[in-house]
Amino acid sequence: MRVALIDSEGIASGGSGAAGAFVSPKFVKSGPVKEVSETAFSFSLPFYAEHFKEWTSVSPLLHIANNSLSNERVRYFKTHTSLQLITPEPTCLKQIRPEARTFESLMLASSAVVNARGVCEAMAEHAEFFDIHVRALEHDGHVWHLDNNIRAKRVLLATGAHQHLLNIPYVTPRPIFGHRINIKSSTYNPVNIHQHVSISQSNTAGIIAIGATHDVHHHRRHTQEQYDYIKGRSELLEKAMRTVALHDVEIIEDFIGVRAASIDHLPMLGPVVDSCKTLEKLPKIERGKRYDINQYEYYPNLYMMNGVGGYGFVLAPYLAAMLRDAIVKNGTIHPLVLPSRFLRRWCIQKCR
Ligand SMILES: Cc1cc2nc3c(=O)[nH]c(=O)nc-3n(C[C@H](O)[C@H](O)[C@H](O)COP(=O)(O)OP(=O)(O)OC[C@H]3O[C@@H](n4cnc5c(N)ncnc54)[C@H](O)[C@@H]3O)c2cc1C
Repeated sequence: MRVALIDSEGIASGGSGAAGAFVSPKFVKSGPVKEVSETAFSFSLPFYAEHFKEWTSVSPLLHIANNSLSNERVRYFKTHTSLQLITPEPTCLKQIRPEARTFESLMLASSAVVNARGVCEAMAEHAEFFDIHVRALEHDGHVWHLDNNIRAKRVLLATGAHQHLLNIPYVTPRPIFGHRINIKSSTYNPVNIHQHVSISQSNTAGIIAIGATHDVHHHRRHTQEQYDYIKGRSELLEKAMRTVALHDVEIIEDFIGVRAASIDHLPMLGPVVDSCKTLEKLPKIERGKRYDINQYEYYPNLYMMNGVGGYGFVLAPYLAAMLRDAIVKNGTIHPLVLPSRFLRRWCIQKCR
């Protein structure tokens, strides 16, 4: 297929460009989030290591709990995961602060940090790129028109925390602002570490990525102008230093961006329901009647990938492969991630 990529700001300029980007699973106890996260992690780690080796640093991951609740979660995770765990080398634990060592921890045999911009540009190499801001998306019965500039048979909306281009009121990604930094330090960090923040393995130039902050109140439009970088940096360093003593720290670069999270912590991938037409066809949905999702009305050949939260680099390759199989091979999309899962609840709430 011929693929056109469109981004008004350039490749990896949204949340993607700000990312660490750590490739690791979510350390949750059980349920669909764990299921999707572990499957995606097992798919994406070898995907980067094999196809984008130049941009990928693989290392074990030391995950340390940061409160009593996560202590219990880590203890449980250790005995309920299919992922390979290893015993940490004594040299690796030596640099961990005594206070941090009092918490439960586990060592994942492999994780990765990818160069966000590098890997996104490499992935986009064979697509045609258009740096335009799309203002309107219309279907003429045959194809989609993007601002009367570009025509496409199929459209995938991957607009992150930005506004949807169509009326899709039942899907509202939650913006979560984040700041991360690259630092130089005389301390050599041999592995990726997660505790209060994520701390990457030192690269060959001694650079360590630290990230990221989470702010659900910071408005995206104010991001550049009003953000207090000094405060963000000290929060990140203070949190990192609670885990590892980093010496001679020099801040090299700041990255800020907005993640787009879904309310149930699962991503959104798949065909987009036309809520107006569906309500016309199935009015009883407003009173809570359940219908098979195949009875919903969908926009023609319109898909969405969004709500990947702080795990975009873990989830996206796995989701993209699922969508490719759905489009090209008539495969199925995991029902847990379909955007249509939010429609009925939205219809009921709208009528209250
Ligand atoms: C600080 C920070 C740290 C993170 N760390 C990690 C991490 O360690 N590991 C991990 O896996 N994930 C991490 N993430 C999350 C990850 O980066 C994001 O979830 C993911 O990259 C989101 O990708 P996206 O394509 O959905 O959205 P975005 O990258 O935000 O892309 C959306 C793009 O759509 C464009 N756009 C929107 N509307 C239009 C329009 N009308 N016309 C043209 N263009 C439009 C925007 O310009 C934007 O560039 C982090 C995120 C942040 C902010």
